Amino acid sequence: MDRVISLSLGEVALKGKNRRYFEDKLVSHVRRAMHGLHYEKIYKEQGKIYIETDENSFEKIINRMKKVFGIVYISPCLRTGKDINDIEQAVLKIMDYVKKRKDAKTFKVETHRVDKNFPITSPEFSRKMGAVILKNTEGFSVDVNNPDIYVYIDIKQNVYVYTDRIKAYGGLPLGTNGRGLLLLSGGIDSPVAGFLMAKRGVEISAVHFHSYPFTSERAEEKVKKLAKILSLYAGRIRMYSVNILNIQKELSEKCPEDEMTILSRRFMMRIAERIARDNGIDALITGESLGQVASQTIQGINVTNASVDIPVLRPLIGMDKVQIIDIAKDIETYETSILPYDDCCTLFLPKHPVTKPRLEDIERSEENIDVDGLVNKALESLSIYDIE
Ligand code: ATP
Ligand code: MG
Repeated sequence: MDRVISLSLGEVALKGKNRRYFEDKLVSHVRRAMHGLHYEKIYKEQGKIYIETDENSFEKIINRMKKVFGIVYISPCLRTGKDINDIEQAVLKIMDYVKKRKDAKTFKVETHRVDKNFPITSPEFSRKMGAVILKNTEGFSVDVNNPDIYVYIDIKQNVYVYTDRIKAYGGLPLGTNGRGLLLLSGGIDSPVAGFLMAKRGVEISAVHFHSYPFTSERAEEKVKKLAKILSLYAGRIRMYSVNILNIQKELSEKCPEDEMTILSRRFMMRIAERIARDNGIDALITGESLGQVASQTIQGINVTNASVDIPVLRPLIGMDKVQIIDIAKDIETYETSILPYDDCCTLFLPKHPVTKPRLEDIERSEENIDVDGLVNKALESLSIYDIE
């Protein structure tokens, strides 16, 4: 009887002809996430991925696997051959674990016979193993409708017996859905936006805009830390950092004060688009959420969007702040996001920002400034960090 961890693939398993490609991608991410941890072997067997290892490593491995997108459930399993006595032993051993849980009193056995050469059908085998449990385990009864615990038996090339199905994030393996450039501020929203797109398989790069020396180095450190937390899920992240102080100064001298936020946002988008195009990145990602702040009205978002041609993904668009904060806490970016360092947007923050900007007005304001020149100049200040 060996100990293995099984990884269930959910959506990946539905990918039809591309399934192999998705599975192989996922296996390579699992391998990478295992870096520094002990294991004997990682292998695929009929729709699941298995990690052969010893029990001491289970907890660490499970915590790492929870962060690998494409995995839906993680189960610590016992693996045996198809000998019925061996399977019985495994089932009883699983019940030994279950017994330690005070709240579990009823069970149901669920057999999944993938190998149709196995002579006993799934329902019949479930009944058989249920009888074995009843005979050998005191204080348990069967409840087929609402059991406290399930005993799962997967009959494949090997037989796997398990009870726990630990939830992971699901989604799709990283790198199976193109590349996105995340506009990463120091706030709560943009790290969550990056997380959600990475979960859909998008490979993430990030760009941060600052106004050094008006914004501090610590503010930049904070953003790097956010990128670092994000990289636990999204893998290596290349982060671009751009100084936009000159742009902000120019805007504050030559444009209406109430348009400052929307005008600087348009510059961020243009610079991000350039970085994306220069680096083969397919889309921008922002943390915008409809109605959340003055610049995120539908008119504000339209005017911001009109500054670029590249697709802009806004995974938070329909979410409430409470929902976003819940995710931020769950992925552990929240505590860092609320550290009180200035970001560049607070620098020239208008007292009464326009909430319903009109594109004609904004474009007229931009006639007073050399847009391309400012973008080019800002790009000269570009620094690059690779965050792992
Ligand atoms: P966040 O919580 O992500 O800062 P927010 O609610 O503060 O978002 P805004 O300030 O309107 O909203 O910013 C909208 C989006 O613009 C952000 O989610 C982010 O994607 C991008 N953005 C804003 N400021 C910066 C910055 N300094 N660097 C990079 N991207 C930025
Ligand atoms: Mg912000």
